Amino acid sequence: MKKTIYFDNNATTQVDPEVFEAMKPFFCERYGNASSIHSFGGSVMAEIEEARRQVAGLIGADFRDKDNCASEILFTSGGTESDNAALAAQPERKKIVTTCVEHPAILTTVREYARAGYEVKLIPVDGSGRLDWAFAEKEIDGNTAIVSCMWANNEIGNVYDVKRMARLAHQQGALFHTDAVQAVGKVPVDLSDGEIDFLSLSGHKLHGAKGIGVLYIRRGVRFKPLITGGHQERGRRGGTENVPAIIALGKACEIARRDMAEEIASLSALRDKLESGIVQSIPRVHVNGDPDSRLPNTSSVSFECIEGEAILSMLNCYGICASSGSACTTGSLEPSHVLRAMGVPYTSAHGTIRVSLSKFNTAEEVEKVLEVLPDIIRTLRSISPFWEEK
Ligand code: PLP
Repeated sequence: MKKTIYFDNNATTQVDPEVFEAMKPFFCERYGNASSIHSFGGSVMAEIEEARRQVAGLIGADFRDKDNCASEILFTSGGTESDNAALAAQPERKKIVTTCVEHPAILTTVREYARAGYEVKLIPVDGSGRLDWAFAEKEIDGNTAIVSCMWANNEIGNVYDVKRMARLAHQQGALFHTDAVQAVGKVPVDLSDGEIDFLSLSGHKLHGAKGIGVLYIRRGVRFKPLITGGHQERGRRGGTENVPAIIALGKACEIARRDMAEEIASLSALRDKLESGIVQSIPRVHVNGDPDSRLPNTSSVSFECIEGEAILSMLNCYGICASSGSACTTGSLEPSHVLRAMGVPYTSAHGTIRVSLSKFNTAEEVEKVLEVLPDIIRTLRSISPFWEEK
């Protein structure tokens, strides 16, 4: 069988074997319900609390229940639920400010709020995906209930100054949420200064399991449960705890904390090798994003005059998995909302691919891509009606 070269780690990651070992006993051996009176189930609660401590350790949060206040770490089903829950927890104002490059977990949700009568403002970006701060300063006002700004963008990898945005929100008495699904585990995230009210993270983006996430809720911030039911998570989220996935997330966070500095160095070296190899061997390409502030693992590259999907299917023939900057909507291939917001020209936006790396990738895998990509691009351009040799 052809070896898979997996370069789609912003979509999801391989469960780390160390993480898998940690979660395994909680399927067939220690499968009791953590809320049980009997110790077979009840003893699992201590493991959940240990996972909460491990998650908190990675992001500088407090995992303990204190003075009748619940822990700052709330387990959810993933990034999407955490994003929804944060937006639902807002105070009695009718305006939401977010950015035009958010994940659909935020953008689709705020569209619903707009239908329900909220004023929703989307902060625009420039050609490198950098935020328009003047717009943010103007629109975050005394009517604003909540501001939501992602920590890192999933398509182009830009890392945003969320603390600055949080200060703008707080000056106006608004809450601040950040979708840090693509940041946690990849770049340092430290909430110990108390500047952030809510933060979303997701297990499957950092070598944990799918279907688990966390909403960080700063101590003292009012929270209204999105999912009501049993008394789990101190009444803040009903539903039996997903114990194996919680244990996995704890372990994944512990490993990320331990290895982060080393990984940032090795991933950015791999990413730079990939980008410089592409730029040197292929004409009319553009690397998207902010070179001064981006994730170490993400590369978004536009190739003029061809379709990203065609590149991906040819890479797929070599066992190489990447993703495109386009979303297929109702049969028509539209460039992604992020590239459109950046004003990437149509002929480039369509030919965009995203390569997202992880600690399991190697220099040999990058070399394989650099070996096959120039031919793929040449072949596709030779049949493209838009391509003219300059
Ligand atoms: N937010 C961002 C920035 C993401 O990249 C993703 C997943 O791609 C999500 C939210 C959704 O996370 P989940 O898949 O855990 O629901």
